[in-house]
Amino acid sequence: MIGRLFGNRDPESAVGRIGDAIWSELLEAYPLFDGFGQEQLQRLRRLAERFLDDKVFFGARGFEPELEHCIAVAAQAVLPVLELGYEWLEGWHEVVLYPAEFIVEGEAMDENGLVHRFRDIRAGEAWQSGRLVLSWNDVWGDGSLDGYNVVIHEIAHKLDERDGALDGTPPLHRDIDRQAWIDHFTQAFEELHRILEADAEPFIDPYAAESPAECFAVFSEAFFETPDFLSAYYGELYGVLRAFYRQDPLLRFGSERKGKDRIDGIR
Ligand SMILES: [Zn+2]
Repeated sequence: MIGRLFGNRDPESAVGRIGDAIWSELLEAYPLFDGFGQEQLQRLRRLAERFLDDKVFFGARGFEPELEHCIAVAAQAVLPVLELGYEWLEGWHEVVLYPAEFIVEGEAMDENGLVHRFRDIRAGEAWQSGRLVLSWNDVWGDGSLDGYNVVIHEIAHKLDERDGALDGTPPLHRDIDRQAWIDHFTQAFEELHRILEADAEPFIDPYAAESPAECFAVFSEAFFETPDFLSAYYGELYGVLRAFYRQDPLLRFGSERKGKDRIDGIR
């Protein structure tokens, strides 16, 4: 299933070598990075190089990751930790790229202790303390600012689990009120459930209703991709996410984008 190795064990390693041309192409292709100043872009590039150094990329189902694929993943993966530090991404080493969505089969226990078999089609998954698995089709397709970004989603899970619990609450900085964080997310989570139960159109990707962990991951996607939307509908949540990521995408994108790119709400 797993194809050839790519990454820091390759003699043509990308370490420290994101060239100017490929970097410019990436910034051109992904409006996600719009609005950054030179200093921030330079830090983003260094972090992406560190990601390439630290992780090993594998291809699955015949997909052979090229340098440009790995750089596109790396740059998006380090965006959430731009102001947090690379150490937030340490402790795991593998990135597996499928050409497109992949099927995951397994067993899961419900709250009554019953084991169910499941078969899911996924664009990405983050193994606890382990590998990051992504569909390249989705990584590439997420270049537009529609609120859906599989790399940011899975990285949010990676940040979330750093305190040992994948529960929608990552280790919080001292200046963030933990209870306020939990209250805002619980409120959004419960409200989303009420909206879905009423068959109404949710304001956010309904996948957020799956669990508190998915709620944090989906809101993180929206935070970086559609901050105008998120701050308009979920102002307090936008505020706690801004305090956590120590970034303000709304400010960065500026007012010209306001109202232009609305979240699709569909995964
Ligand atoms: Zn998820």
